[in-house]
Amino acid sequence: MVESDLMFKICLFGDGGVGKTTLIGRYLTGVFKSNQTITIGVDFHVKKLEIEGKKVSLQIWDFAGESRFRFLLPSYVVGASGGIFMYDITRFSSLKNFPDWIEIFKKGFIGAQDKQLPVIMAGSKLDLNYKRAVSSKEAFDMAKANNLYGYIECSAKDGRNVEDIFYEITKLMMHRADII
Ligand code: GDP
Ligand code: MG
Repeated sequence: MVESDLMFKICLFGDGGVGKTTLIGRYLTGVFKSNQTITIGVDFHVKKLEIEGKKVSLQIWDFAGESRFRFLLPSYVVGASGGIFMYDITRFSSLKNFPDWIEIFKKGFIGAQDKQLPVIMAGSKLDLNYKRAVSSKEAFDMAKANNLYGYIECSAKDGRNVEDIFYEITKLMMHRADII
């Protein structure tokens, strides 16, 4: 019998310009690519990884934060097992919209909603710490208030915590599916 990989769909969400497309690019290729072209509609990538001896395929969905593409959101999140909400630590307004994003995510999410959601909050552009406009505590409190598991700050530029974000969200989804 052929053992097939476990497949999980994860959605990145958050305002335009926070660094979603750049984070995915860094994760997949290991390099920081500035001037990512604006994401048109939706796009997805597949990454294979192994956690605790289990092979996993991650389907990573990237959504353009622009309002003219918002009509695509409900279909974008359908079937998601997990999410990464990203805000920019140098831009407070990017955290403020979090409740709207989480509502959209919940509509497409396939698991029970009474438990904690397998969503990680990620503060981007940690290399721009000197321009920080959101304290770690503010973000952490919002993550907790919305029943999220995790909170991580990262930089797609210097690579800090990029792998960790995807590793953690994958572990969360595997736990939730009783695989590990
Ligand atoms: P998206 O709209 O959320 O997909 O954002 P993009 O990935 O297109 O990134 C928006 C801008 O932020 C681009 O100019 C990126 O080069 C920049 N950017 C993304 N990640 C980082 C980071 O970790 N550090 C810095 N300094 N800039 C970043
Ligand atoms: Mg983008």
